[in-house]
This record gives sequence, C-alpha cells and structure tokens, in this order.
Amino acid sequence: MKIFDIAIIGAGPSGIMAAITAAKLGKQVILLEKNEIIGRKILATGNGRCNLTNKNIDVSRYHGANPKFIQQILSNFDQFQVMEYFESLGVVLKEEDNGRIFPRTNQASSVVEALDYELKKMQVNIETSALVKNIQYEKNWIISGEHQEKKFQIEAKNLILTTGGKATFQLGSSGDGLFWSSKLGHTIIPPAPALVPIETVETWPKNIQGLKIEGVAKIVADEKQISESQGDILFTHFGLSGPAIMKQSRIISLLIPTQKVEIHIDVIPEATEKILDKKIETILNANGAKSVKNALAGFVPGDLMNTVLLNLEIDPDKKSSRISKLERTSIVKGLKDVTLTVRETRSFKEAQVTAGGISAEEINAKTLESKKIPHLFFAGEIIDVDGDSGGFNLQWAWASGYLAGTSASK
Ligand SMILES: Cc1cc2nc3c(=O)[nH]c(=O)nc-3n(C[C@H](O)[C@H](O)[C@H](O)COP(=O)(O)OP(=O)(O)OC[C@H]3O[C@@H](n4cnc5c(N)ncnc54)[C@H](O)[C@@H]3O)c2cc1C
Repeated sequence: MKIFDIAIIGAGPSGIMAAITAAKLGKQVILLEKNEIIGRKILATGNGRCNLTNKNIDVSRYHGANPKFIQQILSNFDQFQVMEYFESLGVVLKEEDNGRIFPRTNQASSVVEALDYELKKMQVNIETSALVKNIQYEKNWIISGEHQEKKFQIEAKNLILTTGGKATFQLGSSGDGLFWSSKLGHTIIPPAPALVPIETVETWPKNIQGLKIEGVAKIVADEKQISESQGDILFTHFGLSGPAIMKQSRIISLLIPTQKVEIHIDVIPEATEKILDKKIETILNANGAKSVKNALAGFVPGDLMNTVLLNLEIDPDKKSSRISKLERTSIVKGLKDVTLTVRETRSFKEAQVTAGGISAEEINAKTLESKKIPHLFFAGEIIDVDGDSGGFNLQWAWASGYLAGTSASK
C-alpha cells in the first residue's frame, strides 16, 4: 500500500488550505472528503458570496480557547497574507462595510474554483465521496472508510483532522472528527450552536414574521445584563434572528442550560425615554381623531406597533385623544423595552459555527499538533475556537489550515 506523507480528512477551507500548503512543501498529500465536491460549506458562506476574511482581524473577535493560543495561530497567516494569496490565485477581492472582504464576483464559487485549480496544480490526491469511518495509529495512520459503497484503506505518516464542528451538519460537518479525537483521549469542550437564531417562549413574533427593524438587543440572564448589540433584528415564526441576535447567540447557548435568559429590545434606540415621551405626546395631541396605532405608525412598522399595543393591553384602535398619560408612559416603556424570553437556540442545523470543540490546552499552538498523540494535527472549526460573523471564521480556517499543513510537512 502506498504510504502518503500526509492524509487530511475534510475538504473544507481549513483542509484545503492545509493540503495546498503541504503539497507546496513537496509532500505527498491525500485529501479525503465525504461530499461529492470540495468546499461545499464555502459555497454557502456569506449568502453565497463568501466573506472570506476581514481587514480588522483581532483576537478579541474570537471565543473559546485562550487569546494567546488564537493569536499565535492567526499570526502565521494573517488577513493581509490571505488576501494577497487569493489575489495571486486570480480571485480579485473587494472590501465592504466593517472591513469585510469578498470576491469581486460576489460568488463563493470563484473561491472554490480557484482553490480546486490550485489543489490539482499542486498534485494533491483529492478523493471526494470518500466517507472516513475510522482512524487508528499503528506504525502509521490507517484511515478506513467507504468510497461509493466500496471499502477503502489509506496509510499516511501524518494525519490532519479538518472535519469541522457540528454546525450546518447537512453540509458535511457532522462531528466525526470530534468523536475520533475523544476516543483517542482528547478533551472535547461540549459543542454548542453559535451564530444561530433564537426560539422564544412568546409566540407573538410569528404574527410579524419577516419584519426587520434596526434596534438594540440586550441579553439579560437571571436579571443581570450580559451583553448588548445594535443592528438588524428579524422577527421569525419561532422567535428572533438577524445580526444583532445571532452575534449574541453564543453567549445565550452557554447560559440557557442554567439560567433564565431574556432578550430586551429597544426598538427606538436613538431617543431617550424622555424625548420619546415628548414626541409621542406631540403626535397624539396633533392626531386626536386617529387611532393610536395609526398615529404612531411613523415610529416603527405598523404591525410591530400593533403588537406592542396589544402586549400592553391597549386597544390599537383607541382614539389618540383618549390615551391617558399612564398609557402613554407604558407605550414609551413598551417601545424602549420589548421583552422576550429565550426558550432555546435553534439547532446545529441552522448554526453558522460551533462553539466548543477540541480543547486547545491539548494542542501545541506553535504547530497545531496534538500534545497527546504524535503525528496528529488539527485545523479549523474542530478546535475550540469560534469567531464573530464578518469573515472571522474563514480567516481562522485559512490560518490554522496553513499552520497545520506547514507543521505536518516538517
Ligand atoms: C451558512 C453559513 C454561512 C457562513 N458564512 C461565513 C462567512 O461569510 N464568513 C466566514 O468567515 N465564515 C462563515 N461561515 C463559517 C465557516 O464556513 C466555517 O467556520 C468554516 O467553513 C469551517 O471550516 P472547516 O474547514 O473547519 O470545516 P467545514 O467547512 O465544516 O469542512 C469540514 C469538511 O469535512 C468533511 N467531513 C466531515 N466528516 C467527514 C468524514 N467522516 N469523512 C470525510 N469527510 C468528512 C465535511 O463534509 C466538510 O466538507 C458560515 C457558515 C455557514 C454554515
């Protein structure tokens, strides 16, 4: 049986980058992927546009492992090197708001095609539709599985696991690498969905599903404010989604097993309660004959206004002139604090990333080699590192893939 220098399981961004890097260093590399194509998840990133990195990469935008570990890995192949690399492959890039970098074509397929070309140019052995079922270390790594219903076995001196976490498992990352690593004695920080929508106990968001507002969402756990984020908030049939919610979903995931978690939304963050009260008073006075719902429809979309009034048990059709001062005060408070109770996060199926994974304590930050098992390396989301939305996760995948590919070649 041919013995490869390096076998890589998982042709996501980290596995592809590891394979190209190792092959460039002259190694015989085999890249195994259970999907029919490589980079399936890359195609889904950034709504099909692939937000492949961010100009403002900073360790504070990552979670999980300790910042020193993360920094050490990111510094091996930083965002500027990543951008230069993709430009050298012919992927012309452009910058959008908040430093987010996309291919100029607005198509994730441009990124995957360029990487596919490079893998072939570097003579990486690519095996797609190859489902790995078992790994074991004897004198070398023995990797076995099924390829189009036929069993296969591969031998390699080094193994890089880049099978991802559990997020959006329907695209391939079903947690196999975490299972094998745990069997080999690695500690797994329990995986939890992150960058994921939130299900609420209250069912009224269903009545205004599809409605998007710009507001401030505060996370409160056992009556203590934990975090807040300003941005788009989307009401859905199950609760809440949108960047301001997804951003904070990681912390919600970790809190809900033990605490009561609420989301407090300020739908008019630009005005203080006092200013808002004055404005509402003026509008109600000037529109006495109109229903309160119609008079105040200029503040927030009508359906939301209607819902806020109903939640406050104020008849939306009540004439503005008949709204009492007490009712006006409760409308102000109702708009500044729309409270929803978290039931749970949506499942891994809808999560963009996985919080948790292989404990970084057991991985050498200089090489990404396991501290427990020699000749075993990790890269990408399988490690206990997850980033914010905005290109941070792909940057982690490129940088860690690059380092694992380099070290496994030594
Ligand atoms: C919808 C969506 C949008 C996103 N958008 C962005 C974005 O715009 N910017 C950003 O930075 N991040 C984004 N992310 C996150 C980013 O895609 C991931 O963090 C990144 O893909 C992780 O890379 P990875 O190589 O570690 O794992 P993955 O990309 O998950 O790849 C793992 C690969 O391993 C394969 N595999 C698993 N088990 C086996 C097995 N037993 N045998 C063979 N193969 C196996 C899988 O099929 C898969 O192809 C998004 C994620 C999702 C789901």
